[in-house]
Amino acid sequence: MAQGRKGKLNYRCPRCLMREIDMDMLYDKDADEYYCLRCSFVGNEKEVQRLNAQFREKYLARMVRITDF
Ligand SMILES: [Zn+2]
Repeated sequence: MAQGRKGKLNYRCPRCLMREIDMDMLYDKDADEYYCLRCSFVGNEKEVQRLNAQFREKYLARMVRITDF
């Protein structure tokens, strides 16, 4: 990876995602945390996954076209 700044996986920032902004986070190897340059979110992998799971739950039906009313 370029300059080793990104983590093994590129997580999107959950806080930006909630505002419909698609922002990759950077990984801090020393602190073992991911951080976002845009909104200054900081969290470890577990925290990020938890928030992303929340987001998925919220928008679970977003890909479904509702045709029956
Ligand atoms: Zn962010």
